[in-house]
Amino acid sequence: MKVSEFIVKKKYSEASGVTALVCEDISVELNGYGCYEEMVDRDLDDELDEVVRFVSPNLNGEVDESMLAEKLFGLEDDIHHDDRLGYYRSLYAGYVVEGDYRMQASSGGMGTWIFKELFENDLIDGVIPVKENPDKSSPIMFQYDISRSVEEIRAGAKTKYYPVELSQVLKIVREVEGRYAIIGIPSFIMVIRLLCEKDEIIRSRIKFTVGLICGHQKSSKFTDFLTWQVGIKPGDVTSIDYRKKLLDRPADKYGIEVSGTMSGVEVNVICPISELFGQDWGEGYFKVEASDFTDDVFNETADITVGDAWLPKYNSDSKGTSIIIIRNKVIEKLVDHGISSGRLVLDPLDKEDVFQSQASHYRHTHDELAYRLYKKDKAGEWRPKKRVEASNEISTMRKKVQDLREEIYTQSHIVFKKAVELDDWNYFESEMDKLSEEYKQLYRVNARRKKV
Ligand SMILES: Cc1cc2nc3c(=O)[nH]c(=O)nc-3n(C[C@H](O)[C@H](O)[C@H](O)COP(=O)(O)OP(=O)(O)OC[C@H]3O[C@@H](n4cnc5c(N)ncnc54)[C@H](O)[C@@H]3O)c2cc1C
Repeated sequence: MKVSEFIVKKKYSEASGVTALVCEDISVELNGYGCYEEMVDRDLDDELDEVVRFVSPNLNGEVDESMLAEKLFGLEDDIHHDDRLGYYRSLYAGYVVEGDYRMQASSGGMGTWIFKELFENDLIDGVIPVKENPDKSSPIMFQYDISRSVEEIRAGAKTKYYPVELSQVLKIVREVEGRYAIIGIPSFIMVIRLLCEKDEIIRSRIKFTVGLICGHQKSSKFTDFLTWQVGIKPGDVTSIDYRKKLLDRPADKYGIEVSGTMSGVEVNVICPISELFGQDWGEGYFKVEASDFTDDVFNETADITVGDAWLPKYNSDSKGTSIIIIRNKVIEKLVDHGISSGRLVLDPLDKEDVFQSQASHYRHTHDELAYRLYKKDKAGEWRPKKRVEASNEISTMRKKVQDLREEIYTQSHIVFKKAVELDDWNYFESEMDKLSEEYKQLYRVNARRKKV
């Protein structure tokens, strides 16, 4: 592949770092907008070209999530399939009652509990979660890390709305023999599955994959954007909990807890996200563009998928509830045992309920991807091959929503950079508020039309 081709196509790359793992001419770096970006400065020879294309979901035009999922799970007994959820053995909503896993987690605590169970049952030697970077002099706040004790596994709990990459941690997996379980957003689990097809060592060592549902990935500047609003300027934050449970509110009205310095004084601030600007996930502030070019909502190639049970029945419980899609037999057994021993409280769910918990996400990520692809085709731009066909057949209102979402995330990166240079939060808010207002107005007009 020529450098020029790489440059055109890399904006659709989830920049997981796996290309850097398989090809030493590629590096992955956080760019000035706080997004991981793959860098290459020489054309790739044929052999490297083939492997780089294969392990990059948006460059690999042959193997998609459905094909890999079928290979992984399709021949199992007692497996079901739904076109939206992919394969599944069982579906649940609930939480962990053992210990304080739930209170220390983002949702119901399943993401950490399942790692702990795999570890305590001697099915793995190490867990690969995303944790705080212990090197406080580094600008990178969170990274993949390997945990080898229950205490270390527990320290990896909670959602980090922060970009991460896999190259460093997978190098360790290659070097240090063992059985590992890893967690990731859909495109990352897909990358790992593709890598396993090519790399015998990784395939033999990654024993389990835990998939997150992921509305979209954020740039690292999303953190500065949150903390600046509570008075901690970009660069002055030392730690952040993006999902602080606020026990007097519904689960989706969580807060942030931030530590850092404010005018040279160390502070710790808790603030509900409802009091912060730009928190509508639909608007997609600081979204990484590649997130708009995945069609995998339910992390279809993961052994177990966990997410938030965004359903009215569960949302009123501020302590948080997980939604769970189990595809792997061994994991199903551990969960069954967790239920029968009273360590988990899980309600079996219908596939429709699981879908409804992510209905808006599915409409954006899957259904309306058709229109985003159509726009690329119309502009004559290269774009990845997806399981969704390009189409202009969505309503005028939804087209406007899609166009504005694109404008908002694109501008949020650019305007924020300028605001930081100007040291002026108000510049950011006033510039972006024009777009946000336009977006909200669209929904208001649409709601009025529906009433008439
Ligand atoms: C960027 C992002 C967007 C998300 N969007 C949605 C959404 O739209 N809908 C939805 O239902 N759920 C979404 N989630 C998942 C949700 O926030 C919870 O992480 C999930 O419900 C698990 O919660 P838990 O209580 O079961 O897990 P916990 O016990 O809190 O464990 C969380 C696990 O996730 C790992 N983790 C944290 N951040 C990352 C990361 N950036 N990349 C990989 N692993 C990570 C942790 O290391 C830990 O192992 C998103 C998560 C992320 C990271």
